Amino acid sequence: MREFISRLQKIDTHVHLGDICGVGHPSKINTKQSKKNLLVQSDYNHWLCKFISSNFFPSSILKQAIAQLSHTNTISNLVESMKKNNISKVWLLPIEPFVSSYSLAKLLPQDCVNSFVIFASVNFLKDSTRLDIHRSLNEQKSKLGCPGIKFHPNIQNVDPTSPKAIALYEAAEELDMFIVMHGGITPFLRGPQKKLGRVRKALDIFRSFKKAKVILAHMGQYFEHDRDLFFTIKNKNVYLDTSGVSSGTIHAALQCFDVNRIIFGSDWPFSRQSDALSILLKAVISYTNSIEKQREIIEKILSRNAKIFQAAVN
Ligand SMILES: [Zn+2]
Repeated sequence: MREFISRLQKIDTHVHLGDICGVGHPSKINTKQSKKNLLVQSDYNHWLCKFISSNFFPSSILKQAIAQLSHTNTISNLVESMKKNNISKVWLLPIEPFVSSYSLAKLLPQDCVNSFVIFASVNFLKDSTRLDIHRSLNEQKSKLGCPGIKFHPNIQNVDPTSPKAIALYEAAEELDMFIVMHGGITPFLRGPQKKLGRVRKALDIFRSFKKAKVILAHMGQYFEHDRDLFFTIKNKNVYLDTSGVSSGTIHAALQCFDVNRIIFGSDWPFSRQSDALSILLKAVISYTNSIEKQREIIEKILSRNAKIFQAAVN
């Protein structure tokens, strides 16, 4: 099956360049690829995640670890990783105010621009009204061709049920853009901001924006263990990406969620693309013994399913 995966042309729908958390130091850019981290090594062990995301775990250590990984996310490291893993396309997700779509556009090498799809992000500190949010997204779509929007309630400190978030969903519908929303908590943050990305409360709202497709990053449960969530998502316009979760969580999603609405994401550089592929493979092998079925699921998640987001794959 590894051979089958390595030959397949893949799309990675969750990749970051730049210091998206605002904790790095520009002078410390590292040209080495990141190593396999403890979290990934443990297959996102539930208790380890719980410990790391508890308020007892020092935020400073987490910020340091994030900064170190952020220093390795250079465009040349990304291109090398894509070649090694036969990934033909990645979605680059900026998070304002730390990384903008415009700054990402400047980083891309001319000879392989088609391998990258730049997403839009709203700087809510600057653009806070309905009109501003719409204008900002419209501009990013027309100038850079952004097909979708990255929304990170925790890092951006915007409640997904607030008027600002609703303005973003409205604009997404009007501009025919889709949304990649962080789902779950963000361990290095403190206070209410840390948990804003819990997706359950936003699901009702997404139901009234049927035209806008929403991808819940991390299957809606970053550093959380909420397998019942898959039963709660009745919305047909909601999709899941496989980044930053255990093989057990992906397995659970395969059991009770529409496989046609699951897409591959690595969250590079926070997880290596090769490690994210191994975790997916482990989940699929544990889900079914049938080689035929395994191939079908893997092909859907790694390539076929993302094609519904036409503007982001062509
Ligand atoms: Zn991410």
